[in-house]
Parts: sequence; structure tokens; C-alpha cells
Amino acid sequence: MAFDIDMIKKVYKTMPERVDKARQIVGKPLTLSEKILYAHLWDGNPTTAFTRGKDYVDFAPDRIALQDATAQMALLQFMQAGKPKVAVPTTTHCDHLIQAKQGAAPDLKRANETSSEVFDFLASVSNKYGIGFWKPGAGIIHQVVLENYAFPGGMMIGTDSHTVNAGGLGMVAIGVGGADAVDVMAGMAWELRFPKLIGVKLTGNLNGWTASKDVILKVAGILTVKGGTGAIVEYFGPGAKNLSCTGKGTICNMGAEIGATTSTFGYDDSMERFLRATDRNEVADEANKIREYLTGDPEVYEDPESYFDQVIEINLDTLRPHLNGPFTPDLATPVGQLGKLAKEKGWPIKVEWGLIGSCTNSSYEDLTRAASIAKQAVDKNIKAKSDFGINPGSEQIRFTAERDGILKIFEDLDATIFTNACGPCIGQWDRSDLKGDEKNTIVHSFNRNFSKRADGNPNTHAFVGSPEMVAAIAISGRLDFDPMNDVLINEDGEEVRLDPPQGIELPPRGFDVEDAGYIEPVEDGSKVDVSVSPTSERLQLLEPFTPLGNKITGAKLLIKAFGKCTTDHISMAGPWLRYRGHLDNISNNMLIGAVNAFGKKTNFIKNQLTGEFGGVPDVARDYKAKGIHTIVVGDHNYGEGSSREHAAMEPRHLGVAAVLVKSFARIHETNLKKQGMLGLTFDNESDYDLIQEDDTINFLDLDQFAPDKPLHIEFVHADGSKDVIKVNHTYNQQQIDWYNEGSALNLIKKESAS
Ligand code: SF4
Repeated sequence: MAFDIDMIKKVYKTMPERVDKARQIVGKPLTLSEKILYAHLWDGNPTTAFTRGKDYVDFAPDRIALQDATAQMALLQFMQAGKPKVAVPTTTHCDHLIQAKQGAAPDLKRANETSSEVFDFLASVSNKYGIGFWKPGAGIIHQVVLENYAFPGGMMIGTDSHTVNAGGLGMVAIGVGGADAVDVMAGMAWELRFPKLIGVKLTGNLNGWTASKDVILKVAGILTVKGGTGAIVEYFGPGAKNLSCTGKGTICNMGAEIGATTSTFGYDDSMERFLRATDRNEVADEANKIREYLTGDPEVYEDPESYFDQVIEINLDTLRPHLNGPFTPDLATPVGQLGKLAKEKGWPIKVEWGLIGSCTNSSYEDLTRAASIAKQAVDKNIKAKSDFGINPGSEQIRFTAERDGILKIFEDLDATIFTNACGPCIGQWDRSDLKGDEKNTIVHSFNRNFSKRADGNPNTHAFVGSPEMVAAIAISGRLDFDPMNDVLINEDGEEVRLDPPQGIELPPRGFDVEDAGYIEPVEDGSKVDVSVSPTSERLQLLEPFTPLGNKITGAKLLIKAFGKCTTDHISMAGPWLRYRGHLDNISNNMLIGAVNAFGKKTNFIKNQLTGEFGGVPDVARDYKAKGIHTIVVGDHNYGEGSSREHAAMEPRHLGVAAVLVKSFARIHETNLKKQGMLGLTFDNESDYDLIQEDDTINFLDLDQFAPDKPLHIEFVHADGSKDVIKVNHTYNQQQIDWYNEGSALNLIKKESAS
């Protein structure tokens, strides 16, 4: 599993010179984010000061991480690029395709049976192209990366929005679509709009029931799901130094929930401790040599308003534990106030499940803090009123936690220990306690709580909290329980209190593991066979997309999505994960979760050709069969959520030419561009209201598609009246070239061949 020390030394060798040069060019002290960005320019030494939020810049990431759901399509695409090996260190992690049901051993066995075709494909394609492979059960991608590969000052991309977790170890780590990863695996630059910078100054110390999770729950409440869009969030201040490395990871992880490009912290003692505890003394020694380059310049943190685009200050001394939700991770409520709110809103007070784990909160420290609460319940003879499920973050954590008696504490409380995998966090949860879609409440330590995310039930009210708060709430069985003030009645009828949690940052006897679950690729993969059956329903080799051209007329409105439309609405997870490697089959979930603005139903739209109503994929297939392009219209932050490029590939596959919205989530917008589609925004947001169900659409000036130049679209309504709408885009020339070639991959292939 060897981290690549030579690569890290190379980064650290060039970093001081590049950072010094950047400081000179920018003309002022630098934040950590700027240091990492300027040290990773594709062209080497900085020569230009970039404008935040405007300039597109080519970067050279140090690493790539792929997870099993997104890796399938990324690797199918990479196979088309005609390269013998990946150009930068890359790993594949099998964590998303393992359903939680009975417990770790039977669940893993079942996953290995039901998904063997996919796991075998990923193992062989990884072996062939020099990619490290973490097999099912090895752990959740972001914990495994934090424990093995993340390093201070590094730049990483990953095909998962929570790649940002590695900011806990001082990286700039960014979630991208598979198509971006393919570019970098193929040895090309990775392009990003130079981000804006949000500084979060942390003062004071966490205490009592307040955890690192509460920092980001609070930040999410302040910034909302859109507030971090296009920005890196950089944490600093005395409070930051007092957080553990994995706690910092938790905070960075949920930066994805505020739409941030990524989040990061400066290198400090907690990171050094973590590197040494995870057997990376060499990395710590190297980092120590250039310590001042791995954190922001002191002037920046003394006067943050002069250097960041926005500054937030949080005093950890007074921060209170929060539970965020339901249905959105930015609805932040301090724990003591949740009961009243829940009663007003009609949210079920009774809590059915408490789930601890996910890449957000499954570290050794997290498990010990939650276990300290669970142990009190056992010791004080309190029976947990909710069911309990635990997903350890990695086999290394699980093995160590078992050795140290931590898992036993949860088992004494009748918890189910699920596989070291995503499980309920991504809808991979066969929940047997519900009969149908009944209204119910769960609490979890994950990051996302969109409707249907955990169990596919739109009526499950999921609340996000720290692992210790989840433990306390699950023990009480009530959403209105406030462990800081309320008492519980134990099995002897006595009133008892839960004391504040106690955690252990790192295992005192060190981490241990028998089989971490890693498979090193062979040196020469040229003889390794990768086969995909033409009759497979889960994997399908790709065909290049045909360019849409510069004359799109007579297109039909497919759906005008109303309200929130996340990547989960566009390409639902849960049972559909099984088709991630088969574009045609997975396209049957396209936009089935989006609410149609006309009639307010999901997966029920008008087919203008027949006048009949049908499901979105079926209607799209009908238009496609008749050679008619379609467009999708959406609201704000369209495509927020995950990095899955399926949310762009499916519409592309089913004939959607353009997605026109009030605003985009960054990754999704890039994904649309990569697939050679049009991602457009209304110049005047209220024009959204002009669009009608029977509209026919003509692009008026697509032949003049150019950077910084708005386009105009004519909407012809059923009564013959017309509206011409001005729309904006963020395509640069290269992205327009992608559009003209039909996709970014088509352009890579063309360039590789020439
Ligand atoms: Fe897995 Fe959930 Fe983390 Fe995504 S957010 S990597 S599904 S644990």
C-alpha cells in the first residue's frame, strides 16, 4: 500500500521555490490554499497572479482516488484513452457496493457474490494500468486515503465529492467527475477555476458534548448548501490547532455539504501525530523540513479580512452540539432546541435508528467517543431505545477497535457492526424494521441527509450529528433528548445522566491490522486481460458521443425541475448503484427523483409528441428515437451533491442537449461540459417562470459559441407566442472544443492519436 515517498519528496523539493515565487508575483503574504495551488501549477513555476473566482488554471495533482461506484465509468473511459499506465499514483476503493443488512461477515459475503463481476473488473483493470486496489471490506475510500496517502501540502483529486476529507491532513483534495480523473490518469492537466477563499478562524477549545462535527454543522448553518460554492474554506487559529487530525478531516469532509471546492487546515502537531501513528514517519520528517510552507503566512492569519474573500469566526468554547436536518444538511439546530422545533414541524420524535460511521465520522477517535457514551448506557443499566448500526472507516480501525474492546461495548448494546464500507450512507441499507414508506426519524453521523438517501424512503427524517450525540440520542430513543440537561430512566426505574464523552485521539497501543485489504498492481500490466461481457447488465463498453453541433432547433422541453435537484434526483443511488458501469441501463433512472414543475410530481412528464404522460427516461427515449433533442430546466444549485458524472452522461446518452438552470453546483456543471453538452444559466432568473410545458426550443446563436459571450434561446409556446431568453455560460475555449468534439474524451483520443 506504500505511499509514494519519492513523489512526496519531489513535491516538497519544489514547493518552497514555487511558493516564494508566487508570493512575489501576488505581491502579498499567501494563504495555505494559495501556496498549495501555486505549487501545483501544470506549467511549474508561477508566472501569473490568478484572479480568484475567474481564471481557469491548469493544475498537476499528485494523486487520484477512485471509489467502486464511480471507478467503473472512469476506468471504462480511461480504457478508451489508449494509455498503458496511469500517469499519477492512483487507487481504487471498493466501498459503495456493499449493502448493510445482517452484519459485516454475511453482508460482505453477499456483496462479493452479487457484485463479483464489478469487483473483478475493477481489480483487473487496476492491475493492468498500475492502480492500487483496495478490495471490498478494506474500508471507506476517504478514511483509507487519510490513513495511507494524504500528505500536507499535496493536491489530490478523487471521483467522489468527499475526497475533500483529506484536507484534514493539510491537502487541497477535490472531488471531481470521472472524466476529470481520466484526464489526469491520461497524463493531462486538470483544469479548475481559481477558487475564492473563505477563512474560518477557530478560537477556544472544544469541550463537553461539542465535537469537531459541530464546527461544520455550525458552518453549514451559516453558509448554507450554496455558501461555499467556488471557494476553498481554510481553517486556522488557535482552535484549529487543538483539533485532532481526524476531527479536521470530519470538518473538511462536510465542506462538500456547503458546496465548497474543498477545505483545508495548515500542517500542525495533530497532523504530525497522525502521520507517525499511521506508520508514515518519513512523511512527517519531510513535512517538518518545510513546515512554514505547509501553512498560511502568519500575516494572513493575523489580519484575515485582508486576505480572504469572506471570514467567519467560531469560538469553540461556546459552540453547542447541533443536529442538522431533516432533508438538508444546512438546517442547523442546537440540540436543546430541536424538540420544540420537531413538534412544531411534525417531525417524528421517536428515533428508530442511530447510525455511526461513514467517511465523515468513523475514525478511532470517533468510535471511542461514541463508545464512551454506549458504555455508560451498559454500566448504568439503560437499554438503548433505538437500533444501533456501526460502520468502521477501515479494516485498520475495525481491527484496532476490536482489539481494544471498543466494538464489544457497542455489541453489548445490541449494535450491529456492519462492513467497513459506506452502507446506509449511500442507500445501501436493507432496512427491515419498516413495512412501507412510513414517516420515521433516524439520526446518523454521516454527512448527507437528502430525502431517500439512507433507505430510499422519502419519509425518513434523517438528522446529522456527531457520533457521540448520535449514540446519546439513539440510547434515549428521542429526538428531543438533550444529554446536557435531561435525565434517562434506566431498567431499574432510576433517573440517570449521561456524562460528556471521552475520546482517545489515537490508539495508545498503535494501529494494528492483519489484512488491510490492499492489492499492489503488477509492474507490467500489458499481459493482464480485462474482459467485459457484451451481455453483462452491469458493465458496458462505451461508444463515443456524437457532437451536438452548432444548430439545435426544434428541441423539446423534457422536464422543468422544481426546487432542489441534486445528483441524487438526477441519477439516484441506492439500487441503481448496481448499473454504474452500464450507461444504457443506469439511464433508466435519469431524473426520476426530480419534481416536475408542472403538476409537482416526480417521474411524470408530458410527451409532447403523444400528449401522454410518462416517466422521464421513457419520454426521453421516445424523443431520442425520433431524433429530437431535449433540454432540461432547473432551479438553484442544480446538480449539488455528488461528483457522479452519470448525472451528466445519462442525459447526454438519452438525447438531452442542454441543461438550463438558475445556478449550478460546480462539479456537475463541469461534468456536463466534459460530456460535450451545454450547461447554461439564466441571465435573468425570473425567466425560469416563462418556460412552459409544451415549449419547443431553438438556439439562435450557437454558431457563435465563444468564451464570455452569452447565448440566446427562443422558446416557442403551444399558442405560438415566443420568448427569447438570454443565457450565460462559463465555457472557456478548451471546453468549447470539448463541446465541438462531442466530449472531452473524444478530444483526448484525437490528441493522443495525433
Ligand atoms: Fe461513502 Fe457516504 Fe462517504 Fe460517500 S459520503 S464516500 S457514500 S461514506
